[in-house]
Amino acid sequence: MSKTLQAVRGMNDILPDEAEAWEHFEDIVRDWLKSYGYRPIRTPIVEPTPLFTRAIGEVTDIVEKEMYSFEDALNGEQLTLRPENTASCVRAAIQHNLVASHGPQRLYYHGPMFRHERPQKGRYRQFHQIGAEALGFAGPDIDAELIIMCARLWDDLGLEDVSLELNSLGSAEERGAHRAALIAYLEQHQARLDEDGKRRLYTNPLRILDTKNPELQDLVEAAPRLADYLGDESRAHFEVVQQLVRDAGIPFRINHRLVRGLDYYNRTVFEWVTTRLGAQGTVCAGGRYDGLVEQLGGKPTPAAGFAMGVERLLALWRESGGESDGAQPDAYVVHLGDEARRLAFRAAEALRTHGFAVVLHCGDGSFKSQMKKADASGAAVALVIGEDEAAAGEVGLKPLRGPGGQQRIALDALPEAVAELLYTEDEDNEGDDGSL
Ligand code: ATP
Ligand code: MG
Repeated sequence: MSKTLQAVRGMNDILPDEAEAWEHFEDIVRDWLKSYGYRPIRTPIVEPTPLFTRAIGEVTDIVEKEMYSFEDALNGEQLTLRPENTASCVRAAIQHNLVASHGPQRLYYHGPMFRHERPQKGRYRQFHQIGAEALGFAGPDIDAELIIMCARLWDDLGLEDVSLELNSLGSAEERGAHRAALIAYLEQHQARLDEDGKRRLYTNPLRILDTKNPELQDLVEAAPRLADYLGDESRAHFEVVQQLVRDAGIPFRINHRLVRGLDYYNRTVFEWVTTRLGAQGTVCAGGRYDGLVEQLGGKPTPAAGFAMGVERLLALWRESGGESDGAQPDAYVVHLGDEARRLAFRAAEALRTHGFAVVLHCGDGSFKSQMKKADASGAAVALVIGEDEAAAGEVGLKPLRGPGGQQRIALDALPEAVAELLYTEDEDNEGDDGSL
């Protein structure tokens, strides 16, 4: 017997109960993004590998060990499943002249990303991000807006215990000066560095500050701080970001070791973290990346953005009592016999024309077993059509939740009768809007 096939390790099926929660979440998120003037962009899931090696940086976790890269067997091109979407957004903006032709852009995306990591709670090989990218904005205002809008989403979702960490990475020159001091410091303690640390000492020492190795915490805590190397402009930029965030009433902590895992960031960087999800506590991360557009071959264009981990946010939303928007139909159509089936189709379509969600029983089954399915569907009413009803061109209408018995209604009068029943139900159920 052949072994049944399973999904790829670290890549998840999202089954209907859960997928409904996802869609509810996505609806909230889309409304929120639009309320800040962000517009959708959709880029391919596969990109040329050099896009990511150039954008993210050769000496990063993602490029060193997490990318799903392969050769296109047909033409030999090196391709990669996108591990993130910022690089693709920037590539698309350059390719289509978005900023040059249409001015600054507020963009958002949503979709699957791929990283070959060790799967664990909150860390998968296919995971989803929702992100915003603001291209063509130089000032600290957009940094603050990106941060403030996140706080609003946490509020919209009713999330608790999400806190903000902020840092500034300064400019490339400022980081260069800091880097020299950092290398000098780390060289003095070279013997204590772990393997990653030794390897990155000269290639990407800033990343050592981000180490999760508990034995290195005191070492990196005492390392030279980027903050002490910031020039006036970077300092002023960071001050305004903090002021606007403070004005919005959002508490934050300056985390001097927040350096982010991708090389393209400069100046403002931030993370939203929670203690409720165990080790994988960062639900959103972002910052400014002024050099990236030029680095990818475009005209120098300032930019900033963030990406949030959808799986982690959904886990937190569930913890905080977030609910799926159960997709219950308004009506379930029960029928028996050939003529009844024909009328059932007409009745169901008539209701859908009036905006109702209708499930038509398909397949065999006695009235009794069909009625059980109608009940289980969560529908508010059942339409019952047997031979008698079919002959009369009428439909039996039976409330499944509220009081009242079955009544017979002419097909023409059906939408109105269903509306009446649903509206009456909604009076005890305020918040739902009746359709029609
Ligand atoms: P981490 O330090 O957790 O590996 P990262 O710095 O690699 O995160 P980013 O590239 O900044 O993460 O991605 C932004 C967000 O996407 C993260 O804060 C997290 O919420 C989510 N994320 C990143 N990698 C994964 C993954 N493998 N599985 C699930 N979510 C992820
Ligand atoms: Mg990572």
